[in-house]
Amino acid sequence: MKYKQQIYEQLRKIDSVINKPQIQENWAKIIVHHVSTEQYNDTTESINELHHEIENMNPSVKLITSPRWLTSSKRREGKTRSSIVIAISDHELAKKIINRGLWIDGRRTKTERFTGVKPTDQCSKCYGFGHHAARCTQETRCRICAASHETRRHVCTTCKTTAKECEHIKTVCVNCKQEHQANDVRCEMIQTLRCSKTDSSKISDAAEEDQDELMS
Ligand SMILES: [Zn+2]
Ligand SMILES: [Zn+2]
Ligand SMILES: [Zn+2]
Ligand SMILES: [Zn+2]
Repeated sequence: MKYKQQIYEQLRKIDSVINKPQIQENWAKIIVHHVSTEQYNDTTESINELHHEIENMNPSVKLITSPRWLTSSKRREGKTRSSIVIAISDHELAKKIINRGLWIDGRRTKTERFTGVKPTDQCSKCYGFGHHAARCTQETRCRICAASHETRRHVCTTCKTTAKECEHIKTVCVNCKQEHQANDVRCEMIQTLRCSKTDSSKISDAAEEDQDELMS
């Protein structure tokens, strides 16, 4: 496929996790909200303490790996509570935890399934793939003409149409440079991505932070 290499290069830049071994594939991942950032920090000691706290307070729960904060320490600054991600192997138990919450420090915390982002997810800011607009670090691109402006600011000075295709401005896809909008399903990039083997639930940090943003 013509664009395959380009796509992988783009994805690799944004989402280095894609190329990592797939050992995490069958883990049930759960986001646990409102964990005290005063009680727990980034140190191994602290993370171990949290690990034990979770397993002691929730006897059936056995974590596969250490719990970890959903977002960077920088993004947690000034917050007294934040979200962590835990991984367990028992999917049935995961469902129960997602329904009932998890006990930490005598409180029942809110939980939800950790979904992350798919490589096929398209950003509505730069129209690249594998991340969401909330965490986009790329330049803003117009969905219609690929220029460096927001799509809603796409204006034709001839026919005065706004945020729509018209005959006066050439429609250009930012990804493949062909004459269609960046989210057109006929785009060869989109079709290649959808067909590629990377479309399972690989997870990027960007996506994790997105989920934090939406839920906390
Ligand atoms: Zn983007
Ligand atoms: Zn435009
Ligand atoms: Zn026009
Ligand atoms: Zn295209």
